[in-house]
Amino acid sequence: MNDFRAEPDELRQDMLKACERVIASGWYVLGKEVQAFEAEWAVASDASFAVAVANGLDAIEIALRALGIGPGDEVITTPMTAFATVLGIVRAGAVPVLADVEPSSGLLSLESADRCVSSATKAVLLVHLYGQVRDMDRWQSFCDERKLSLVEDCAQSHLARWRGTGAGSFGAAGACSFYPTKNLGALGDGGALLCNDAELAARASRLRNYGQSVRYHHPEIGMNSRLDEIQAALLLARLPWLRTFTARRRRVAEYYLAEIRNPAVRLPDPPQEAESHVHHLFVINCNQRDTLQAHLKEHGVESLIHYPVPVHFQEPCRTIRHDPLGLPASEEHARTCLSLPCHPQLNDVDVARVIEAVNCYVPR
Ligand SMILES: *Cc1c(COP(=O)(O)O)cnc(C)c1O
Repeated sequence: MNDFRAEPDELRQDMLKACERVIASGWYVLGKEVQAFEAEWAVASDASFAVAVANGLDAIEIALRALGIGPGDEVITTPMTAFATVLGIVRAGAVPVLADVEPSSGLLSLESADRCVSSATKAVLLVHLYGQVRDMDRWQSFCDERKLSLVEDCAQSHLARWRGTGAGSFGAAGACSFYPTKNLGALGDGGALLCNDAELAARASRLRNYGQSVRYHHPEIGMNSRLDEIQAALLLARLPWLRTFTARRRRVAEYYLAEIRNPAVRLPDPPQEAESHVHHLFVINCNQRDTLQAHLKEHGVESLIHYPVPVHFQEPCRTIRHDPLGLPASEEHARTCLSLPCHPQLNDVDVARVIEAVNCYVPR
């Protein structure tokens, strides 16, 4: 599903130079590399500020805490996401509430979210699932009208833009992950918070560093969620490649959308706009998903399931409040979704092989 060893040698050389630079500097935590990466990531994401943190989970927790969202406050989100989305809410001390998804896109349903709003609701944590950013005008007015904070989970949507605005800037804050498999990945864990408010950025920077304002002064209880200099340097080396890599993901997705033809397979919605999808994952739906996956494997094609278990079926999450009408679309999506290989190192022969394997599948 990913092949980092097939990355260009030039990129490998850039990464080696980045490591040497950090080792030669003798400075390993919160230094020049982190500062430079924050500046470049903010520009690349069309945000005023980026605050680098240790991972995407922490970015969510810190975004919520910096907004003053915590115990007693409800945050509406989706059960069709990485577990970290909901864990970030719980770790901030707030209460997750689960709304259903749209059957066609797998994204949070606005109508379902509306049924979940209570007097305790403080925010919507919107996940740009699989790299798609959609209908942001509707989400902005939904949150504005109800005086809720809009927080974006941008772990899968690096560089995605919708009507001229970058993911992470539609609401109060965006949370990014640089886990190795994300579109921009470190060689380990990493994350960042995006926002356009200087005070929020300053509070997030304190929270990631023990709640420290100036050395040895702690106006609030923070955490240790610092990004290492070496990971920041590696991210700086990888960032110039992200545009080319994203273009390749788009090209692969275009091939799949144009050439996969199988009545047993439902293709994902095409992107709403040219830049509104960065194809972190290419996810199809099939009623006999498991036999399709076995068939692909026989034809030498890897696939994965994002996600096989919706959050409300996870053991610690069974009592989480959800849409009173249930979460049927999420359950159906979890039962039928399958992610095909969609990464920048796929060549045209690989892509043709995936298409051929999907097209020759016959449900048993
Ligand atoms: C990866 C991911 C996260 C968590 O990021 P980590 O860096 O692994 O903590 C959160 N939300 C979504 C949607 C993700 O894909």
